[in-house]
Amino acid sequence: MAPQSSEVDVLIVGAGPAGLMLATWLSKLKISTRIIDKRNTKVFTGQADGVQCRTVEVFQSFGFAERLVKEGAHINEVAHWEPKEGGGIQRTKRTPDNEPGTSRFPHAVLTQGRIERFMLDAMREFNDLEVHRSIQPTSLSIDPSLVSDFTSHAISVTLRHLSEEEATPTQVGTVANGLFRSNLLTDEEADANPPPNANGDVGKEEIVKAKFVVGCDGARSWVRKQLDLHLEGDSANTYWGVLDALVITDFPDIRLKCTMHSHDAGSILIVPRERDLVRLYVQLGHTEEGERVDRTKVTPESILATAQRIMAPYKIETPYVEWFTCYEIGQRICPKVTLDERVFIAGDAFHTHSPKAGQGMNVSMMDTYNLGWKLAHVLQGKADTSILKTYQDERHQTAQELIDLDYRLSRMFSAKPSTGADDKTGVSLEEFEAFFKSVGKWASGTAAQYKSGVLVEKTGATDVAKGLPLGMRFESHQVVSIADARPWHIGDRLESDGRWRIIIFAGDVRIASQKAQLEKVAAYLDSPSGPLRTYTPPNADIDSVIETLTIISNPRISIEPNDFPEILWPAKGEFGCRDYHKLYADDESWFSGKGEAYKHLGIDTETGCIAVVRPDQTVSLTCRLEEHELLGEFRRGD
Ligand code: FAD
Repeated sequence: MAPQSSEVDVLIVGAGPAGLMLATWLSKLKISTRIIDKRNTKVFTGQADGVQCRTVEVFQSFGFAERLVKEGAHINEVAHWEPKEGGGIQRTKRTPDNEPGTSRFPHAVLTQGRIERFMLDAMREFNDLEVHRSIQPTSLSIDPSLVSDFTSHAISVTLRHLSEEEATPTQVGTVANGLFRSNLLTDEEADANPPPNANGDVGKEEIVKAKFVVGCDGARSWVRKQLDLHLEGDSANTYWGVLDALVITDFPDIRLKCTMHSHDAGSILIVPRERDLVRLYVQLGHTEEGERVDRTKVTPESILATAQRIMAPYKIETPYVEWFTCYEIGQRICPKVTLDERVFIAGDAFHTHSPKAGQGMNVSMMDTYNLGWKLAHVLQGKADTSILKTYQDERHQTAQELIDLDYRLSRMFSAKPSTGADDKTGVSLEEFEAFFKSVGKWASGTAAQYKSGVLVEKTGATDVAKGLPLGMRFESHQVVSIADARPWHIGDRLESDGRWRIIIFAGDVRIASQKAQLEKVAAYLDSPSGPLRTYTPPNADIDSVIETLTIISNPRISIEPNDFPEILWPAKGEFGCRDYHKLYADDESWFSGKGEAYKHLGIDTETGCIAVVRPDQTVSLTCRLEEHELLGEFRRGD
């Protein structure tokens, strides 16, 4: 009997953080999607845990940041510990984890399994999308005659349904006494018990025809191999143990993130976790060229023993170990990430690095956050297929920056403390701290900057908003709704819903010439040649493709909603009600102070500016109000 065949717009292989972020995006945008994973359950313990500020901002744009902020540990301060003369260690400095003002959200720490749970719930809520587990692809081919027809299901993938045995991951580390007594047990129990018929089709083969395939299948990616692509890179010849545990200790900074170098016992990175857990990254040793670490010799006891030597004279015991592992430091990246913009790879399939920079899960999710809306735009006919090329450019650049940072960070951690000016191999305290500070902004995820290209335009004035650099994420500040006096973070108006935003910082519209300028902008937006009417389908709401938000700098009560042109707060929906959520003032609120958005973003309070923001909140264009016709020219060539 011929295998059953089905069609889907996007097939995602792998339901780790990268795959689930893509599935979340696509389900939010109602794109026909299938996501498969060879494992029978998701991750429960261990692996990644650090969620950087930018990732929390993205979670907020999907509506589930709150869950992370509530459940996770928050990293506020980093304590630096160095060798003490005469033996032992001493605290040498305390620094903020991120520069104050980096983001309104914290750097939060929560086990990868919970992060995956948030996305699984979002996928279900947005479009009833579930992961199809215990399924693995066995072949992938593209019909060459259809490859440039992006409306065709040109890719054929054969899937095989696995047995329970095949789909059960080999456990690395231990999960002592089953699941830890957790307030999260209900979700986890559900995750641990896949539906009884999950493997009812054992051995069955089926064919899926897809318009796009995205390999989010981890460092040993099967999809990457089908494209004959390879990770290239380096290894630092050091190996580290990781322990997630409850600890009993007299070390005073155990609830802070700590970097620690000892005289000659190695280094540790301490990361406080949720549920009073602590993660210890412990330097275990070096390998010679070509030598492989025998992982079976690494146990929780051996990792703890090394930690005890490094932390002496402080004492530490681990009465409960939730998870442990051992890894060798290496930085590898795949130079190419797509085949004909029909098959893509993302996440660990695309780049791998040491976990200490706390970036793997974050950068992996940001890969597919970058890709998801672009796939949807092409599938929904909102953009030309050329936007898909920007995925390789934008994400390869970011991945390479991460690899470079991780390479330097890993060597800084693994090197011995410098013994003085003549010591050329050691790292001095000053060097380490300066480096740590310099990478902070990048590590928060907020400093990634995509270069100029089809989606980042340098045609307008770029000096009108110094706090909104082109290619970077829109930095959110509080403003106040003109209609109902509610304070809003602008970021909360930039929901991940696939829409572009034109944000008009209208300046001081009490000045007649400035008000006239705003009216000219509005008239252009309302005209047939303006971008709203050009890109919005005839019967759709005028804000369904591009939403306009207006933020004035003068006091909220010095103007009425009725003073604004209708296009800036249009009538919409079934009943034609006016949208009051589009008009804001950079003003004092009753209960939450003043956000000072203009000041923070470097915008002139009289003359203002316009910013165009992509569906992934990247600043795409800035210009003066007088340059408003650029809004229509922009993306005209897509
Ligand atoms: P993965 O998480 O590897 O997911 C890949 C998925 O694809 C898996 O579910 C797998 O079952 C599935 N799959 C694989 N092959 C197939 C196939 N052929 N068919 C179907 N499905 C398949 N990152 C951080 O950001 N912060 C940290 O603090 C951090 N700490 C870490 C600590 C450790 C000890 C380790 C090991 C990693 C850590 N990382 C950290 C890295 C992080 O776990 C990864 O970077 C992240 O999980 C990558 O996500 P991904 O979705 O690309 O891949």
